Amino acid sequence: MPSHAISGSATAFETARAASDHQHDPKADETDAAPGHWRDHALCAHADPDLWFPEPGESAHTAKVLCGWCPVREQCLAWALDTKEPYGICGGLTPLERHALSIRRAAEDESTGQVA
Ligand code: SF4
Repeated sequence: MPSHAISGSATAFETARAASDHQHDPKADETDAAPGHWRDHALCAHADPDLWFPEPGESAHTAKVLCGWCPVREQCLAWALDTKEPYGICGGLTPLERHALSIRRAAEDESTGQVA
């Protein structure tokens, strides 16, 4: 891994963790006005966006860890699955992992007789 990625990741962790702590602060919730769109609470908005779009051969680990702390992970993943977003890490999953999840869910729906 290039050294700039390591130092960039540390900064991203610190920034995103601080944003995560703020978003989970009950006092902050009391003072926040309208909840707004889920994207307004996206943890990735506070970190280097390149982490969510790793080049081929680069690790997506940092983005996945940060997604795990994100308060809107479920909404993000639902959006990515609904729109078949082909790029980047969304909801903690790569495009390939999201595609596999879609196939699994479709198979489960088919086996239980549910219509998508
Ligand atoms: S779950 Fe979605 S919104 Fe949250 S940090 Fe990950 S990519 Fe961003």
